[in-house]
Amino acid sequence: MEVRAKKALGQHFLTDQKVARAIVDALHGGLPVLEVGPGMGVLTQYLLEREDIDLRLIEIDSESVEYLLTHFAGMQGRLMEGDFLQLKLEKIFPERFAIIGNFPYNISSQIFFKVLDYKDRIPEVVGMVQKEVAERLAEGPGSKTYGILSVLLQAWYDIEYLFTVGSGCFAPPPKVESAVIRLTRNSRTSLGCDEALFKTVVKTAFGQRRKMMRNPLKPLARAKAERCGWSEEQLQAFLAQEVFSLRPEKLSVEDFVALTNLLA
Ligand code: SAH
Repeated sequence: MEVRAKKALGQHFLTDQKVARAIVDALHGGLPVLEVGPGMGVLTQYLLEREDIDLRLIEIDSESVEYLLTHFAGMQGRLMEGDFLQLKLEKIFPERFAIIGNFPYNISSQIFFKVLDYKDRIPEVVGMVQKEVAERLAEGPGSKTYGILSVLLQAWYDIEYLFTVGSGCFAPPPKVESAVIRLTRNSRTSLGCDEALFKTVVKTAFGQRRKMMRNPLKPLARAKAERCGWSEEQLQAFLAQEVFSLRPEKLSVEDFVALTNLLA
């Protein structure tokens, strides 16, 4: 019996074996690996073939879990039933590990935010996502889709758009095209600014992505004015700086670091 695809869990099973192998081949390896959402194991079969990989799996769907347990040897002790987003990763991996998966598209952003929370333990991620999300994450400033997650991830990871996968490679076919991306942790150990404020600045600046940043960032500038005891004129002069006339989609990671320091 095959697993019945459930929409709410973002289940689109990859049926193209060549694509499955290419995804597994894209993983550099040499570390323990967590597969997120193995489903019926199309990636799992190739991951198990690799001797350089110590594999763990997390799958939320009990029907898929049962399928994997009956179709693959060695699942006991490796396969966990549960929600990746709730997983305490430090309990499973005391050290560094990589992540792979054909991610459920409805939670792909949340998966990447979780990766960011564990960025110093996760040197590599290979994942299939919606094509549009892959482009968003991989593209630099100036592109139409560049956004919050692009900046936050690019601060810590080199991101490669590896290849596009048509919807015909899945059962049932998703409405959109897909793509595989690889994230490789860069050598950065600190941002050169307050990290929490950096996140706030990026998220706030993109509140109105097609507009100058002056408006959305005004409350943060005002907070600084209060901390520094500035007059209203001083605040206006501060906000008159050219950077506040730019649109957030034009700013690189370095530009956001500089902006964060300006607002600190
Ligand atoms: N890797 C399989 C399945 C991809 S579909 C393939 O390529 O064919 C996405 C898979 O993620 C499904 O099996 C779904 O049940 C699982 N999933 C959805 N939400 C999840 C979550 N929060 N945690 C873990 N797995 C999840």
